Amino acid sequence: MKPKNIKDLQTQSRKLRVRRVDRDTLVVESTSNQLAHHVVTISFQDDQIHARCTCPWAIHRGIACSHVMAALEYLARQKGRKLSFWLTEQDAQRQRQRVLYLRGERPEEGVWITSRNDRPPQRDPRRATAQHPQIH
Ligand SMILES: [Zn+2]
Repeated sequence: MKPKNIKDLQTQSRKLRVRRVDRDTLVVESTSNQLAHHVVTISFQDDQIHARCTCPWAIHRGIACSHVMAALEYLARQKGRKLSFWLTEQDAQRQRQRVLYLRGERPEEGVWITSRNDRPPQRDPRRATAQHPQIH
């Protein structure tokens, strides 16, 4: 099961506080209950991500809940990167960024993730040339 409103969900996920418990386990606030939190575990296999969450959406075979998104964003931020989530591979490829795949229970039920550098812009000589072409 994929979320339909993936962009809204991502916006929601950005408000959630995340605490990393160990290498692949994170605790994320519940969106619907201020007294509760959810446990997310994440494992990486090349560019594929497998995530589990304790929330009802995940228990009912849903992927990419706001907690998993928040946890993945948290991990990405530690590496100076920012994520976007996409329902189709075409949408993801169009971003021309690194593409990751969040696996669903069945192969076709995954969600694509693009990862971009979120560090302050550094001088990239190639990009400088592209943006300011020399006059011939
Ligand atoms: Zn969840």
